[in-house]
Amino acid sequence: MSTALETNADQRLSLQKSVIEYAEDFLNSLENRKAYEFDSYGKEDGDSFFDIDEQNHLIEDILPFIGERVDKPGLNPASGGHLGYIPGGGIYESALGDYLAAVSNRYAGVFYASPGAVRMENALIDWAGKLIGYTSHFGGNLTSGGSIANLIAISTAREAKKLKGKDLESTVIYTSQQTHHSLQKAIKLCGLGECILRIIDLDEDYRIIPEKLNAQVLEDKEQGLQPFLVIANAGSTDVGAVDPLNAIASIAEEHDLWFHVDAAYGGFFQLTKQGKEIMSGIEKADSVILDPHKGLFLPYGSGIVLIKNIEHLAAANSYEANYMQDTKMHRDEMSPAELSPELSKHFRGMRMWLPLKLHGIAPFKACLEEKMELAQYFYTQIKAMGFEVGPAPVLSTVIFRYLPKDKDANEFNAAIVKAIHQDGRIFISSTTLNGQFYMRVAVLSFRTHKKDIDLLLEIIEKQL
Ligand SMILES: *Cc1c(COP(=O)(O)O)cnc(C)c1O
Repeated sequence: MSTALETNADQRLSLQKSVIEYAEDFLNSLENRKAYEFDSYGKEDGDSFFDIDEQNHLIEDILPFIGERVDKPGLNPASGGHLGYIPGGGIYESALGDYLAAVSNRYAGVFYASPGAVRMENALIDWAGKLIGYTSHFGGNLTSGGSIANLIAISTAREAKKLKGKDLESTVIYTSQQTHHSLQKAIKLCGLGECILRIIDLDEDYRIIPEKLNAQVLEDKEQGLQPFLVIANAGSTDVGAVDPLNAIASIAEEHDLWFHVDAAYGGFFQLTKQGKEIMSGIEKADSVILDPHKGLFLPYGSGIVLIKNIEHLAAANSYEANYMQDTKMHRDEMSPAELSPELSKHFRGMRMWLPLKLHGIAPFKACLEEKMELAQYFYTQIKAMGFEVGPAPVLSTVIFRYLPKDKDANEFNAAIVKAIHQDGRIFISSTTLNGQFYMRVAVLSFRTHKKDIDLLLEIIEKQL
């Protein structure tokens, strides 16, 4: 029985054939699939098939179940109609990268075990670091997503600034109303929940006002408090705001603050000319995070943390373990295990490296430019339809709402979102800003094109 786990070539071929057929069906039918299945949440009779039992099952029975009960209900992030939260799409070549990584099962945690896998990951960190303008002596890690990347950055900041438990109550962290909630979690997880949190005022485009930040830091210093960390956005999730990074960098430098930039959403827009300009100053940050499963269109499971001084990252994650002594023999390059909380890890470099190698950078850049244009187009059109709009998109997010004459605006706009969800061909999400309900569109799936935006406009028009 134990040999059953070692499939032979014929069995593998047969499994592959079924899985590839399924995947091709899925991809080829995407045009006709909904972006959102509104009425799909209930349990169904056959759902006991989710449960793990003693029995074995055939791929012919398993795949249809996945098709009906996993790949249909809820949101369809592979759809070009996904314009909610921050989409990405999930490029196919990444799936093949994951396949190769899982088949060979290279151990990407330490150089000694797989110099090739570690070189590949380090090459990706090098590329991403140079993209944001770091030049040398920086380090980083490929993570499972932006939240863990933020966590690693904050733990590095704490280590670098040598915070002690007894200092926490007089230590100050500066954020904005637009700061992503994963940073609240990171602060809590790093044991920094007792620090003083200052939420700095924003301008009308939802960007930190540097003068307000500076004034607050000065006031805090006067009171004998210790300014520690400032967190800025390079593309806030809510509205796509990019904080004035150069001005914040100067304040951080003057007052010896750790400067963290959350570029999970916006970071890869630096592949475009406009994005590069608007994020100028990001290279001055002590730490930056990016999300390849957003701006590089990878499937979920890919984040990046970059730390300007690799020593800080190494210090925050250093360890001693007798059973790891062999790994010290070959240390030509730093290992992910020395630069992150993970030891064994998914060989996640392959899912990013393979598509970048196969395509080169140009198509990614073109795709990002297209998304910016589509957001601009949507902004112009929805405004012309009489909607109140938020800031003109600097990246690819638009917030908007309708102000009906004699109805409650919040209820009216929530009803529009519900109607869009019930239709399901396009998915958008909503947010609340200053107590007002806003619809929001984020264009970032590589599969989103003008026809999807036009369809959304058509669906919205029918609700008025
Ligand atoms: C998406 C996002 C995150 C969290 O990243 P995950 O990959 O979802 O964990 C953090 N910050 C910003 C600005 C984001 O858009």
